[in-house]
Amino acid sequence: MEMTESRRLPNNVHGKYYTIEECDGCAYCAMIAPENFDFHKETNTYFVSKQPATPEEEELMQQVIEDCPIDAVRTDVQYLELERSSE
Ligand code: SF4
Repeated sequence: MEMTESRRLPNNVHGKYYTIEECDGCAYCAMIAPENFDFHKETNTYFVSKQPATPEEEELMQQVIEDCPIDAVRTDVQYLELERSSE
């Protein structure tokens, strides 16, 4: 599968963490880190509405990355690794 920047949902705020188009709107991320995720009703997806600003928020973000059922929360580092592995 080709990994392109277009898979990053457009509503994500600029920054290191983001969600991708595969998000199915399960709401787990917003339950764990409500300060950092918001819902986009039209597409039934969640997006990063605020990048983590404290160690606590960073920790919650890492938990969401590990536990998102379809791996739809990414960091730039993961994005680059996946892009490399798909070449
Ligand atoms: S946990 Fe993953 S699949 Fe569920 S809403 Fe958040 S980003 Fe989407």
